[in-house]
Amino acid sequence: MASPATPSSDQSLEPPPSTTPLRVVVLGGGPCGLYAARRLVGQPGVHVTLIEKEAIPGGLATSHRRGANFYDLGTHMLHEFDKEICDDVLAIMGDESFPVDLNAKIRWAGSFYRYPLQFSDMLKGIPPWTLGKCVAGLLIAQTRQKLFPRVPKNAEEALQQLYGDMLYRFFFKDFTHRYWGFPTTEMSATFITSKMPRLTAVDMIKKILAKFGIKDSVKAVDSALLEETLHYAKTGAEAMPRRLARFITDHGGTVHLNSPLTALDRGPDGRVTAVRFRDNATGAEHRVEADHVINTVPLKYLLDALSGVPASVREAAGHLRYKPITIHGLLINKPKCLDALYIYYRERLFHRIGEPKNAGLAVDPPDHTVLIVETTCEIGDEKWNATPAVREKIIADLEAEAICNRDQIVEWHVLHAETGYPVFRLGFEPHHETVKEFLKSIPNLQTTGRQGGFCYPNMHSAMRMGATAADTVLKAHQLAATA
Ligand SMILES: Cc1cc2nc3c(=O)[nH]c(=O)nc-3n(C[C@H](O)[C@H](O)[C@H](O)COP(=O)(O)OP(=O)(O)OC[C@H]3O[C@@H](n4cnc5c(N)ncnc54)[C@H](O)[C@@H]3O)c2cc1C
Repeated sequence: MASPATPSSDQSLEPPPSTTPLRVVVLGGGPCGLYAARRLVGQPGVHVTLIEKEAIPGGLATSHRRGANFYDLGTHMLHEFDKEICDDVLAIMGDESFPVDLNAKIRWAGSFYRYPLQFSDMLKGIPPWTLGKCVAGLLIAQTRQKLFPRVPKNAEEALQQLYGDMLYRFFFKDFTHRYWGFPTTEMSATFITSKMPRLTAVDMIKKILAKFGIKDSVKAVDSALLEETLHYAKTGAEAMPRRLARFITDHGGTVHLNSPLTALDRGPDGRVTAVRFRDNATGAEHRVEADHVINTVPLKYLLDALSGVPASVREAAGHLRYKPITIHGLLINKPKCLDALYIYYRERLFHRIGEPKNAGLAVDPPDHTVLIVETTCEIGDEKWNATPAVREKIIADLEAEAICNRDQIVEWHVLHAETGYPVFRLGFEPHHETVKEFLKSIPNLQTTGRQGGFCYPNMHSAMRMGATAADTVLKAHQLAATA
């Protein structure tokens, strides 16, 4: 599980001027922004306004209604890793949420493996000669790294150090290239250390090696847990953000949906004094005064809205790119297609297919099912446009995997997210630092979450980042109150 960077939540906010109530504006209504607002709402002397550009809250973590059914923007389930946040969110969701056991798989080299990958499954599925070479490669990589420790200069080297050359070539190299659209030699090693969960199977081999004094020296995210409970709802991912947004308004906060940020006004001291947004329903621009702003929208949109941004910072922000995603939501005339909640595919046009009905999604009609087919793309390319050729390839891949056939696809919906994944391209770090340093110079602005922090949290981690930003505001407020 990726541990999120804490982008600028560690910055000490200057206490706001002594206005009552404290006006906090949260930009973006994904899990991070919603949870920041949830944490602040109802606090004595605080008024929260949340601004979200889409007509429904949730950001990446939602489902969209198309016809009679809901389609997740990439299958989204809540993990339990952050108990405080999980308990709180489940209490807010009431009986709309239910637990689901993790049942995920990887399709690899003609077989299915449990996800996270288990050593016992690898023993059964991979030819002994290949497996032997993978383990030997891992041993060599571990020993070399112990004797001659080296900072990896790109993702390829980081993966080779973590897994050995053979396993890297066998499992990661081509898939990672296809997924991102560029080779691992052009990807930052930071991607591996902050995003990619270790393979559980490899952890097991490493434990054995550690007994012989050959210890891991490369930092990586902890491996995913095999036994894990997730949480989901009958309407899919949209239930959680909907309930959080309602909680915020029920407790006195204001949520503006369908309202993209247009500008941040700043005073002579550089502080943000007000936030402007457009109400898409009427086209009118509105202005909300702000003592503090918590930003969770992509950095490029934040900087576009800010005045007084030096050219060097705008130039640096131009290097912080996002990988868009296109999701194909299919209604299938078949009660069930997959023997899992989701399956990762390594050699197909799609890289993951989810069947949320297996997690409890209500499907209409009940003898049909919904498939969530995930692809990465670039804006305007043929995958983004879901061209007939791409659809044909998806159908061919679905048929080749015996998931369903062409005649069983009764509805086909295409969903997009322009900022699906921050791209950790080689050399992005100094550009990110430049942007962060500039934003830190604005005393009453924090930027956080997946988009505002340019990092890879899951929902619970994004919500934790929102909570941390909210607590920072409250702390500054209390300091001001007692000063
Ligand atoms: C395919 C996929 C599957 C995933 N599956 C899971 C999963 O199963 N479990 C899990 O825990 N995590 C999952 N995640 C991760 C999860 O989506 C993120 O952790 C979460 O969405 C991050 O929340 P956030 O609020 O930081 O960012 P976002 O969800 O991106 O929210 C940012 C918000 O800002 C809004 N915004 C953008 N521009 C503007 C603007 N100009 N004005 C106003 N608002 C604006 C956006 O509309 C959006 O609502 C998945 C991610 C992907 C891509």
